[in-house]
Amino acid sequence: MAKTRTAQELEKIFLEFAYYNDMKGVAFKPRAYELASESMAALGDEIKETWSRGGIKELKKLPGVGQSTAEKIDEYFRTGKIKEYAALKKEFPVDMWGLSRIEGLGPKHIRDLYKYLKVKNLTDLKKALKAHKVQKIPLWGEKSEEKLLRGLGLMEQAAGRKLLGYVLPLADEIVTQISKVKGVKRCTYAGSIRRKQETIGDIDLFATAANSEHVMDAFVNLPQVASMHEKGKTRASVRLNNGMDCDLRVVPDEVFGATLQYFTGDKRHNVLLRQYALSKGYTLSEYGLFKLTKKGTRKRGKLVVCKTEEEIYKHLGMDTPPPELRVGEDELEAAKKHALPNLIPYGSVKGDMQVQTDWTDGNTSIEGMAKAAKELGLSYMAVTDHTKALAFVGGLKDADVIKQGKEIDKLNKKLRGFRILKGTECDILKDGSLDLKNETLAKLEWVGVSIHSSFRLSRADQTRRLLRAIENPNVDCIMHPMCRIIGKREPIDYDMDEIIASAKKHRVALEIDAFPDRSDLRDIHVRAAVRAGVKLVISTDAHHPAHMSFIPLGEAIARRGWASKSDILNTKPVGELLSYLAKK
Ligand SMILES: [Zn+2]
Repeated sequence: MAKTRTAQELEKIFLEFAYYNDMKGVAFKPRAYELASESMAALGDEIKETWSRGGIKELKKLPGVGQSTAEKIDEYFRTGKIKEYAALKKEFPVDMWGLSRIEGLGPKHIRDLYKYLKVKNLTDLKKALKAHKVQKIPLWGEKSEEKLLRGLGLMEQAAGRKLLGYVLPLADEIVTQISKVKGVKRCTYAGSIRRKQETIGDIDLFATAANSEHVMDAFVNLPQVASMHEKGKTRASVRLNNGMDCDLRVVPDEVFGATLQYFTGDKRHNVLLRQYALSKGYTLSEYGLFKLTKKGTRKRGKLVVCKTEEEIYKHLGMDTPPPELRVGEDELEAAKKHALPNLIPYGSVKGDMQVQTDWTDGNTSIEGMAKAAKELGLSYMAVTDHTKALAFVGGLKDADVIKQGKEIDKLNKKLRGFRILKGTECDILKDGSLDLKNETLAKLEWVGVSIHSSFRLSRADQTRRLLRAIENPNVDCIMHPMCRIIGKREPIDYDMDEIIASAKKHRVALEIDAFPDRSDLRDIHVRAAVRAGVKLVISTDAHHPAHMSFIPLGEAIARRGWASKSDILNTKPVGELLSYLAKK
């Protein structure tokens, strides 16, 4: 999923194509371009590799890429631009990509903003909002202006930080490349990436090496690097193509453990650990663990060689909390008592429990998604297309769900060593009733339910709505329970304790939706569910085959929430999972 500038530009161009066509009221095309843009986002540099291999013919084999899209990509790689796009940009010179990042700002809104207020970009929009001009656009009003302000605020909160899901593959790639440089013994990332936080500010890398200057040269010349801030003998700092800053330090082998520990953080964890070290007669910093000359003083004596982090924690008489747990709450107490949880290992999930297909808004057939899942090493997946309340994605009616089940039966006969489960992501309506009939739900193997509308009900009403859904005996799981989209939509409000208690009582699982901008449930709620004995599932909400590679992100959230393998239902083989579900 590496992404150079060209891959990012293509993603942007096709989204803008979708917007232009939507504005002009062209039918079908906007959705096709949107799918193409999603494809570019998911495939990254694979696009160029595919084109180099066989031009338009090969490009058309990619999901979401038809004849007209393939021709445009071909023109882009041959000539460096797309004529039709350039013409549209000239006719309507607006930064649609930038503006569309605000929740609720669709193509027609952007058209109006330009038509009435000459808004071309975010700066113009902010000015117009400040002057309260937006509410004066015909049919807009005060409410629209408020909504837009809220969306802008959310987007700005997230500004400068990037989602873990898009940073992690990049960081892994850089670590792999640095590890291959001659003389490098170890290389890893620290900081918020290592702790697997939802969003990441910059990338901190550490290495040990025979010759640090070699490493510096290799680092600043990586293809992912856009420009260099500074380069010394043991430390260099660069700006990457995606706009993030990245630092690399080469440190001596005997302090690698202390450096990694220090720069992994988080701050609160380190403060508590340093205090504890002092009470044990040591002092700890990024330069190493030192024995104090005398307990009670702060004068440092001999360096305690710690080539690994584990050695540091061991010297202090405790187990090593996995980086995902280092938040400065109770993890050190547990480490001292040797009572840290046995976290779910990465690679434990055996099946994806939320997959959208081209029956609704996914961009690939059921069979295509199944093949991709199998290639990733999964042994099952649940098909969970949306239901009819989501009319704009062509949500399925009861009869469609039954028809889809027959198709799945056929595919299951054909596929070897892989099982497709008949499922749904059934809409929870405003009053808590469900969008499919009970007799339809009863025929499915996996009933996930979720909210896609009326996000701003009162806390009491939202709680009641979810409780009613949980009480339906056909329901197996609440999907993306908080309904948030990082940087775009705030979580819905309800009494989580009540939901967790009811989920326990009715044997309903909660989902960890691993899609990077959802990351829903959050870690604290995972932990509450684990404590209460509520089962969880990890799924990707895939709309494209490449999205299924998000599973480790869900495992990271589970780990941050202290979950073990046994807390996660889809770590079971499919037979065991189905018999668990059948017991309900
Ligand atoms: Zn959904």
